[in-house]
Amino acid sequence: MYSVKFNSEVNQIEDVHQIKIDVPWAVKNVSLYLFTIKEKNVLFDSGLDMGNWGKIFFSALNDISLTIQDIDYCFISHNHSDHVGLAGTLKQKNPNLKILMHDITSKTLKWENESQNLNELEQEAKKVAFQMIKYGFNEKQAERVVQFFSYWPKFRKYQKPDIILHDGDRILEDLEVIWTPGHSFGHICVFNTKKKFLFSGDHILSRITPHIGNYIIPKFLTEQYEGYDFNNILKHYLNSLDRIDKLNPKIIFPAHQEIIYNPHKRISEIKEHHKNRLAEISRVIKNNPLTPLKISQIHFGDLDDMNSFLALSEVLGHLFFLENQDLVKSVEKNGKILYYS
Ligand SMILES: [Zn+2]
Repeated sequence: MYSVKFNSEVNQIEDVHQIKIDVPWAVKNVSLYLFTIKEKNVLFDSGLDMGNWGKIFFSALNDISLTIQDIDYCFISHNHSDHVGLAGTLKQKNPNLKILMHDITSKTLKWENESQNLNELEQEAKKVAFQMIKYGFNEKQAERVVQFFSYWPKFRKYQKPDIILHDGDRILEDLEVIWTPGHSFGHICVFNTKKKFLFSGDHILSRITPHIGNYIIPKFLTEQYEGYDFNNILKHYLNSLDRIDKLNPKIIFPAHQEIIYNPHKRISEIKEHHKNRLAEISRVIKNNPLTPLKISQIHFGDLDDMNSFLALSEVLGHLFFLENQDLVKSVEKNGKILYYS
């Protein structure tokens, strides 16, 4: 499908190598990071399995005088296709490589990849689509939501991890695993406690705020994590930001866009952004009940179906956060849910 040639570059920042390769969507590129710790070569994230992406990655490794046989550990930040893509290929080429991912990421990917779950996946996607109709979508837009959730898992092959991670785990002594739910339920950052470097995946990016929203979570996982509030994702995301801020990282190495040399400032900007959006949404619906779709159109304008779904889910994240604090209320009218403050 994608026959484009992806451009790539290799950079060195202190003792970390960045391999930055183009991807054919809005974030423009994906960065993987390589560093050595206790004489082990560690890779953060495994990129995308699409077109000649893998080939470009292996030739970039070559440029820093390494081969896949030299890599000892590969962390996976979360379950999205531009982060887990090549995990299986890497493991196949080097069976000694240890793949590491959070328990939730492993279980989600495994579930998505088992054919007996396709029916449950589709049913869950239909439930989400039905809910989106209540929030303002028409039938055609809802159908695209179902397609979206059935399409992407094809690019996320399950690779069984060699090490299953939980919050607070230490790898090679110096690397601390920080569970940062928000962008994805099982998202992790990895913190080098000695150097104070943070590998942030999609949790913290330099120019955009990551999309907040987790939709299809298998039932057994919601049961396993029953104390977790699956509704108020923005709250989890903001808590995850505060946790990172407290670590006082010196440099943040994100999966997209530019390296962040002023972590505290960037975290404050992202928090400010959400604070402003919460205030704007409250203002727009003051004594003026609107569907979440209408609110998202006021904020983001008219978008294509896919982006209007992302915009809608972003607005919902904020509405649920406000609702949780009793700052907004909802009412159902003619099959649509309206929010007001
Ligand atoms: Zn990403």
